[in-house]
Amino acid sequence: MVTKTSLSEEARKKLKPSYMEALNERQLEALSTLDGPLLMLAGAGTGKTRALTARVAHIVHTQNAKPNEILAVTFTNKAAREMKQRLGLHVGSLVENMPWIGTFHSLSVKLLRRHAELVGLKTNFTIIDTDDQIRLLKQLVKAENIDEKKWPIKNLAFHIDSWKNRAFTPDKIPEAEHTFYNGRGSEFYTLYQERLRILNGADFGDLMLHVVQIFQKNPDVLKKYQKWFRYILVDEYQDTNIAQYFWLRLLAAGHKNICCVGDDDQAIYGWRGAEVGNILKFESDFPGAKIIRLEQNYRSTPQILDTASNLISENQSRLGKTLFTKGSDGPRVRLIGHWDGDEEARWIGEEIESYEKGTRGYSPIPLDKQAVLVRTSFQMRALEDRFLNIGLSYKIIGGPRFYERQEIRDAIAYFRITTNFDDSMALERIINVPKRGIGEKAMRYLNISSRNKNISLLESAKLAVAEGTLPTKQTSNLEKLIKNIERWNFMNRADEISQVDMAEMILEESGYTELWMNDLSPTAPGRLENLKELVKAIQEFNNLQGFLEHVSLVMENEQERNVSQVSIMTLHAAKGLEFSVVFLPGWEDGLFPSQRSMDESGQKGLEEERRLAYVGITRTELHCNISFAANRRFYNQWQSSPPSRFIDNLPRKNVEVLTPPSLISGNLNAFEPSSVSNSCNNISVFDETDKFNTKINSQNMKSSKYIAPGWQRLNQNKTDMTAFKPYKSVANDMSPPDFDIGDEVFHQKFGYGIVHETEADTVIVAFKKAGIKKVKSNFLLDKDNFP
Ligand code: ATP
Ligand code: MG
Repeated sequence: MVTKTSLSEEARKKLKPSYMEALNERQLEALSTLDGPLLMLAGAGTGKTRALTARVAHIVHTQNAKPNEILAVTFTNKAAREMKQRLGLHVGSLVENMPWIGTFHSLSVKLLRRHAELVGLKTNFTIIDTDDQIRLLKQLVKAENIDEKKWPIKNLAFHIDSWKNRAFTPDKIPEAEHTFYNGRGSEFYTLYQERLRILNGADFGDLMLHVVQIFQKNPDVLKKYQKWFRYILVDEYQDTNIAQYFWLRLLAAGHKNICCVGDDDQAIYGWRGAEVGNILKFESDFPGAKIIRLEQNYRSTPQILDTASNLISENQSRLGKTLFTKGSDGPRVRLIGHWDGDEEARWIGEEIESYEKGTRGYSPIPLDKQAVLVRTSFQMRALEDRFLNIGLSYKIIGGPRFYERQEIRDAIAYFRITTNFDDSMALERIINVPKRGIGEKAMRYLNISSRNKNISLLESAKLAVAEGTLPTKQTSNLEKLIKNIERWNFMNRADEISQVDMAEMILEESGYTELWMNDLSPTAPGRLENLKELVKAIQEFNNLQGFLEHVSLVMENEQERNVSQVSIMTLHAAKGLEFSVVFLPGWEDGLFPSQRSMDESGQKGLEEERRLAYVGITRTELHCNISFAANRRFYNQWQSSPPSRFIDNLPRKNVEVLTPPSLISGNLNAFEPSSVSNSCNNISVFDETDKFNTKINSQNMKSSKYIAPGWQRLNQNKTDMTAFKPYKSVANDMSPPDFDIGDEVFHQKFGYGIVHETEADTVIVAFKKAGIKKVKSNFLLDKDNFP
């Protein structure tokens, strides 16, 4: 029996059942059955998230639980914010008292801070990111003299993540997996966890794993939360991994009021350990569960829905469901092939502008209702360049790009060591930035001493200063840094100055701002700008710690501005969102579907890629634009690939094929004039059925005189697209890329460096680690494409 909780009279007046107004019969069922387990399994755009949000409002409205007794899990921080915004409309200021709406990660951080000591951490533990994770593992592997080339660190990190995703602590790794990483995977996992504990740090996987551990080993703690959370709600349930699944099951075992919503066709995180099986076995996990199926799609036009349904019907492993939508047909999905990625970006920019102006025979569509969804973030660069060029306002969503920049990471490392003395990873990053004479040798000494004595790096630095083990200059520099860090920490805790002043002070007193002010390279002004942006971002938080938490959790860099902006994001980040106009560039075999997914997971990987395409198309309300390019620049090499096999899955009747602009405008230098009339046919040829067929008609190909490698390869491979292995380098067919003296570059073998001299197709580069080398410019990446 659930006890009603009392709300103030004033609060009650503010509650309006407005959330019920736009719900259909089936969605209303989700409100009428509040108690017991409930699953809403339905296709894209059928109003799952809307019904879930209404359910939360209903629980508050009917006073079945206090606002802070409701646990609602969303997939992204953006989704959590949107849910809160919508709730605010229905429950007024009560929404401010709902701290348990968030992502698995953000909710776990909250729980873990409260009980950190139960897993050997302190409450101010640092959340370390992938970069630090790799750095830490590298230290451990190096200390054991293991050949990194033979046993790449990334493999070890992958295994550890995969164990954490499945809630395996080092002692619980399955027997069969003991052979991983040359039979030493579990040993390194143990060492790594020990190191993290000493550093008072947790990686992303730990956030879930530690909480599950706390619940499993401390029944009293678990019981408290089971009792507290009267209602649990989960969006995008198809993408939960096993650790998240345990987390939920443990919490839900109390009141058993768990409501999950999801769509098996939108499971796109298998590569990160998500188990679509979780949603499929909901009924057996929660006996007596009520299942609600929604079939009406409210988001998309019939053209869009037909296209998406046709595509996904090619997948073998799916439940299959009926979807319908009312309303007028709408425009067909548009499909276009381009010569290269730059032309594609140019076209997208122009199209966005014409949608915005309403020159397409439809009402104008503001920029914030338009989005470009890419398969891989490297595709963003060409788009960004183009949009900057034509002054089109855009924002990047869903990438840690801003926070990944070198100067931002350095600054954040300063803030981290200020708030957590045990954070040796942070100290190691900045101990010699700016230069303090602490080179590799001194660093090795400090690291060894910290490991042997089981103390933090800061402690070992203090010891070295006290004992005078390092040369005088280094000792005095180190002493100054330590004193600074201690003073900043003291001031920060004493709350003496605002967090913004604090951040500025740290950057100034450490000499970090000066470092970039004295730097004459062309990137320095931009870096100083970024540091300013960072300090501006800190303003929004109560303290440095709050900001640091945000940085580690929020992988979204949304520059909230008042102007309307086009969104650029990956398909993965687009989950749950909707736009009037959607662009889906890069539909090329090897890029999408991604060759790596197919190589690693075969048919399963291909089906996950197809679900991703389904997610992409179903984000569209009205205009969907799919495109592909014959040639694309990867790591400074031109590569060419045939159109995506997913284009074959699009129903012909719903698709309009466009002529590439280079053919309209007479910009034919890429083609031989005589081939023009054939060119479009070759991009995508209709076969006798109602599907596209990217296998090339041999008659056409014989007469084609394309000179570009992409089309030549299409020609050569005309009979068997499935055997295609795209992305062979075609660099020799293209002129070598241009570099200027002073350009920042990256080389796969030698790492980062600065161009010193250029010759015909070779460049002399001063690499940070490998020294001066002469390399072929084809093998260099410019700074915009750094990995
Ligand atoms: P996805 O699978 O992509 O996450 P979803 O099932 O969560 O989609 P929602 O985002 O909740 O779908 O809803 C899709 C769109 O339909 C939204 O714009 C929503 O406001 C609208 N919508 C949902 N239910 C109704 C309804 N009953 N009447 C009118 N519009 C609705
Ligand atoms: Mg949704």
